[in-house]
Amino acid sequence: MSEMGLVVVGAAGRMGQTLIRAILATEGVRLAGAVERRGAPQLGADAGELAGVGKLGVTISDDPLAAFANADGVVDFTSPAASVEFAGYAAQARIAHIIGTTGCSVQDEEKIAAAARHATIVKSGNMSLGVNLLAVLVEQAARALNAGDFDIEVLEMHHRNKVDAPSGTALMLGEAAATGREISLSENSVRVRDGHTGPRETGSIGFATLRGGSVVGDHSVILAGSGERIVLSHHADDRALFAKGAVTAALWAHDKKPGLYSMRDVLGLG
Ligand code: NAD
Repeated sequence: MSEMGLVVVGAAGRMGQTLIRAILATEGVRLAGAVERRGAPQLGADAGELAGVGKLGVTISDDPLAAFANADGVVDFTSPAASVEFAGYAAQARIAHIIGTTGCSVQDEEKIAAAARHATIVKSGNMSLGVNLLAVLVEQAARALNAGDFDIEVLEMHHRNKVDAPSGTALMLGEAAATGREISLSENSVRVRDGHTGPRETGSIGFATLRGGSVVGDHSVILAGSGERIVLSHHADDRALFAKGAVTAALWAHDKKPGLYSMRDVLGLG
């Protein structure tokens, strides 16, 4: 089979540049296009030069439709509004769409699910093997330790430029805990505590967000009982692991029927 042509959207971003390097390092895929937002200063630049791997002959453009027409898939770590727009274009072009963007609203998620009727979409708040395995462990722990005895708190830290909170990964781990407890996360989560909050509500899932420096992504799920604490953690040192996961997802999605999939499907973690 010929190489899978991938377009990187948000090509000048932190993840975009990391994705370009990951595509270059992976057998079976090639960089078919690179797209940035209208007015971005990097338009017209060579995508390889921008990513620090030398000239690749792929120019950064602001025309996703033209780029998608000549590709088999798109890898997208941009913004919620952009990912919703790209999901529509990928569905029109009938190509796979790998979405790592976080911070999507319920309405954004609905639009992406609608596009997945025509396109194969893999969407995950975290594309790393380690975090997806951690989510499985969190679900098991939450199921085994009952809400009356163990309180669940999700703690995350990211670099100072991250724009959404809690992180997509923290929400994903919260969802895993809620699934284990057979409750709805949206009805049981506590996102912020400030002032006279009163005691902790039994069965709630709390979130705490730290921001600073260059931290790529630290997550801990704490199950706090009386006299003991279980802490399940993951520390990401390098964005390359998310990019590697996204490229693995693209190769996996190449021959799959349209639908909305997660990294758990890609990694066979059920
Ligand atoms: P970034 O700001 O460095 O990069 C985003 C890029 O997208 C920018 O270059 C921006 O110009 C571009 N962009 C925005 N709108 C666009 C449009 N309409 N068309 C084309 N390009 C557009 O951010 P980042 O750190 O690379 O993160 C991007 C997203 O990926 C965030 O939502 C982040 O939380 C998420 N993320 C997910 C994972 C994961 O594993 N799922 C890992 C890391 C980051």
